[in-house]
Amino acid sequence: MLIKTLLNKVERFKSFVYGTVCVTLVGGTEALVIDIVPRRNSGPICPECGKRRTVYDRQPQRLFEYVPVWSFKVYFRYAPRRVKCPEHGVKVEFLPWSYGKERMTISYQVFLSRWAKRLSWKETAVIFETSWDTVFRAVKFVVDYGLTHRSLEGVTEIGVDEISVFKGHKYLTLVYQINAGARRLIWSGPERKAKTLLRFFQEFGPERSAKLKFVCSDMWAAYLKVIARKAPQSLNILDRFHIMRKFNEAIDEIRRGEVKEFKANGQENVLERKRWLLLKRPENLSEKQTARMDELLKLNLASIKGYLLREDFQRFWEYQRSDFAGKFLDNWVTRTLQTDLEPMKKVARMLRKHKPLILNWFKAKGELSSGAVEGMNLKAKLTMRKAYGFRTLKCLQIALYHELGKLPEPEYLHRFC
Ligand SMILES: [Zn+2]
Repeated sequence: MLIKTLLNKVERFKSFVYGTVCVTLVGGTEALVIDIVPRRNSGPICPECGKRRTVYDRQPQRLFEYVPVWSFKVYFRYAPRRVKCPEHGVKVEFLPWSYGKERMTISYQVFLSRWAKRLSWKETAVIFETSWDTVFRAVKFVVDYGLTHRSLEGVTEIGVDEISVFKGHKYLTLVYQINAGARRLIWSGPERKAKTLLRFFQEFGPERSAKLKFVCSDMWAAYLKVIARKAPQSLNILDRFHIMRKFNEAIDEIRRGEVKEFKANGQENVLERKRWLLLKRPENLSEKQTARMDELLKLNLASIKGYLLREDFQRFWEYQRSDFAGKFLDNWVTRTLQTDLEPMKKVARMLRKHKPLILNWFKAKGELSSGAVEGMNLKAKLTMRKAYGFRTLKCLQIALYHELGKLPEPEYLHRFC
């Protein structure tokens, strides 16, 4: 029968063969059901030790959902045997197409998870006429498999980042590998406390931690302390992305203060819908935005002063030598402290305090890509946006590993999609 021939091409089991194929009602809908029978003379395998043992008894038939064809749902039907293992007692046999009590086959889980990478989980569920929860379980299975089977060898450069999740002030700490050609999310944990990052180092292990060359991070004191303690040989770098983010936070704070003042004085709000103009780099603005920005620059606003201070500081990153860069930084700090822009002064004081770690950037120059952490951060935010429907932090973490973890999948599978 043709279906069996096709199946043998995509999924062949050593100790089992395909039996009869029929169309029958499953849950009120017509579906393709394929029986599976053990090959003659092949005993069941103990799931604990992987050894062939004798049959103890047979359980009732079960359905295992497989990859659908022509909008028909497809199921394998099999009555699992129980093995009698002298070491492990009576157990349900190992089945090569499914794990544990799961009703989905491994192939179907990988199939769904691949689609869930391209579409949102919700869309995936709608297209394959299944539930959000099923898609979640499939992704979780593939992620768990990947986390267990991935290799963390060769991780010598990492970036520690945090993203705020779910409205309010909840954070997720993310650790990326940022080696050239091997960028991926390697760890995530709730909150951004010292103990959060300590947990990462604990799981990462002292041996691997000792091999770290560069650690890019924010100037968050909790992180700095832990990095100094757990990877003292590494160069801790306060990188461009994290520092420039502080500038943007300051500009945003100044802008909000000014808008409030306009309102209180009954003035026209000239900053309305100008937030992104102020936060973007001028070279990233469109022609139209540039024209609007030029208009804004003519006004004598605190937000503009902050903006100009930031743009001035960008020159810092172009220095080749760290001593010159250091002088520039001192000079910028002095000038900024003479202004009346409190949020910017806060940035200046922060820069002064962390000058050595910031100058570490120049020691790693040429070896480290300035965009690595920023690129990963952007992808993480995109995943979060795609992820409406993620009700818990755990779900979000799984989605992030799924999208950014570059995790290995079960290998022997046919590529359906
Ligand atoms: Zn056993």
